[in-house]
Amino acid sequence: MTENYQNTQMDVGSMRSDPDQPLSGLWDWDIAHDRLEWSPEIYRLFGVEPSAFDASYPAFLERVHPDDRDKVSSAVRAALEDGQPYQVDHRILTRAGDLRHVREMGKVERDAAGRPIRMLGIVQDMGGRLKDEVRMGLLAQVVEQSADLIVISSTQGVIEYVNPTFCRASGYTADEAIGASTRLLKSGLQETAFYRRLWETLMGGEPFHDVLVNRRKDGSVFFEDKTITPVRLPPDGPVTHFVSTGKDITEQLQFEERIRHLSEFSPLTNLPNRAAFMKMIDDEVRRLAYVGGRLAIAHVDVDRFKAINEAFGVIAADQLLKAIGERLQQAFPAARIAHLGADEFGVLWTDIPGIDALITEADHIMAQFAEDFSVAGHAVFITASVGLSLYPDDASQAADLLRTAASAMYEAKNQGGACWRTYIASLVKDQTERLDMERELRQALAKQEFTLHYQPQASLETGRIVGLEALLRWRSPQRGMVSPGQFIPVLEQTGLIEAVGEWVLASACQHLAAWLAAGLPAVRVSVNVSPRQFRSARLPQVVARALAGIGQGPGAEIELEITESALLHDTEVAVATLRTLRQLGARIAIDDFGTGYSCLSYLKDLPVDTLKLAQPFVQGIPEHPRDRGIAALVIGLGKSLDMDIVAEGVETEEQLAVLREEGCTLLQGYLFSRPIPAEDVPLILTSGKTL
Ligand code: C2E
Ligand code: MG
Ligand code: MG
Repeated sequence: MTENYQNTQMDVGSMRSDPDQPLSGLWDWDIAHDRLEWSPEIYRLFGVEPSAFDASYPAFLERVHPDDRDKVSSAVRAALEDGQPYQVDHRILTRAGDLRHVREMGKVERDAAGRPIRMLGIVQDMGGRLKDEVRMGLLAQVVEQSADLIVISSTQGVIEYVNPTFCRASGYTADEAIGASTRLLKSGLQETAFYRRLWETLMGGEPFHDVLVNRRKDGSVFFEDKTITPVRLPPDGPVTHFVSTGKDITEQLQFEERIRHLSEFSPLTNLPNRAAFMKMIDDEVRRLAYVGGRLAIAHVDVDRFKAINEAFGVIAADQLLKAIGERLQQAFPAARIAHLGADEFGVLWTDIPGIDALITEADHIMAQFAEDFSVAGHAVFITASVGLSLYPDDASQAADLLRTAASAMYEAKNQGGACWRTYIASLVKDQTERLDMERELRQALAKQEFTLHYQPQASLETGRIVGLEALLRWRSPQRGMVSPGQFIPVLEQTGLIEAVGEWVLASACQHLAAWLAAGLPAVRVSVNVSPRQFRSARLPQVVARALAGIGQGPGAEIELEITESALLHDTEVAVATLRTLRQLGARIAIDDFGTGYSCLSYLKDLPVDTLKLAQPFVQGIPEHPRDRGIAALVIGLGKSLDMDIVAEGVETEEQLAVLREEGCTLLQGYLFSRPIPAEDVPLILTSGKTL
């Protein structure tokens, strides 16, 4: 025994040198004399000085935590009775007041008569070991009580654990979830590819993080911001589990959605607000830039709304605004209605044929105010001022369309309200003015106020005149010489362009026939065909008749200039029309090429002879390298398709040099000649003028 004691003491001694090692010590209890002998480690463990310790069993028991005393004494008693070694874990109270966990192991020795005379034992500091257990317990509680949804599953996707937060969020009890597949929550709203990525990531041993769209037990959907981590047990082994921690972010998303709604919709009428209206217009403008066509907007402003506000109060006035919004929505189911703010509303019509259709719609808006509104129990008649704006006629950008519509609306207000006004570019200031111009234009043809000027086109190769573009002029007795930019939109909108265009074509052909008859050098004459004219079913007939008047010889041809945008609208019909016109003997040019956002690939299918490079690109040379780039591109494209390329609006020698270098074939512009009256054409053709 003594030997044992020695050995153990040596062990204990060697432990002492390591302060991180838990303490262990030996005790020896002389039962008969109740003398307790402690090794120094026990003194240290108990936190008492040997001098201050009355080394006896009761003194020892006093140091044991009161709650554990029974446990200890009954273990000791049992050992004394049956003689078996005992082991008991208990807590002790140190002098310093600390609580310590120890494990006590003891063994009884008896005399020849079998009476217990001595007990030997070890006290082991269990601090560290118990701490582990406590830590595990703590960890378990962290998982249990976590505000996150926690699921532990096998690598096969069988759920092994779920925490209460999961149960609350999903509606499944732990019993229902455990043993089920993780597919339990699958909403079916995410693509197969999403889940494939999830499994591939996890199988690769990597954590997966994303928002999962899950379904609760009651069928409703919730969004979970989730991280799934592969776990290895033991840490250096293969992946055995997946631990998923997530947050239910459904409310957060709903909140964001609400914010978005608030930022795009008027809280009063629940209609899109000004910013959203602007975006709608912008989207439509972009679409139309590709497919062609028109859109229109109306700016509707309630007249004398302030008076209603004052008379009936804000609440009643708000109800009135709501009612107006609803009435507009009902009246224009195919249009988009917006609440621009205060007493202002917006209407957007997509794909409107033109001004005539817009005016019909405007009258329909006015009709909505013919019937009374009920305000605070009173029947109230109100009126509105409406401003109209048309794309692309009045503006080509969303913001400009809104601005032009607003200024037309103010014009309507100036007229006393209860009416609509259109905005026609900057050319006509108000409706009466526009109507005057329209009336004058209707008579201009009969009064022979139209005339043609011709602008020569020179070959870059020979420097000689090879073509003339016919440009319409209006000599108005009231207005003087009006440029086509001002009156052609009005002709277009009223439909007068068809008759005037017919006249231009016939006149140009007559001029050419006369010049040929007079023995002047053969020349090509270009005639502009407006989009509306191009879409007219009568056009082939008109062209055929006009061409019949001239005996076309080599070099003496008629070329029809069609703008790019006219071709983008209903391309199949456009191509068929072009074919017909060509069969009739006319050449085809695309005017202002490069401004119409066209898809270049459609060009190769078009029966086209000439591309007219739009002025802005020519005029950007040489300051704007991009313009030069586009010019070079159009020239290259035209050449590769075996077309002539006319550079329009060439004003400087520098531009000429660049265009020559890029391989352009024809030039038209002030540098060579301004448009000249028809009477002067014979002179220029015989003068031998060269570049
Ligand atoms: P367009 O067909 O692109 O005609 C070229 C325009 O550029 C003409 O303006 C011409 O005078 C101008 N121009 C020519 N060289 C230069 C230059 O070096 N610098 C500058 N800054 N401008 C130059 P115009 O005569 O005012 O005609 C404007 C537009 O009106 C024409 O553009 C065309 O689209 C339209 N137009 C003219 N006549 C007719 C017509 O008979 N029928 C139709 N439908 N449209 C016409
Ligand atoms: Mg032209
Ligand atoms: Mg042009």
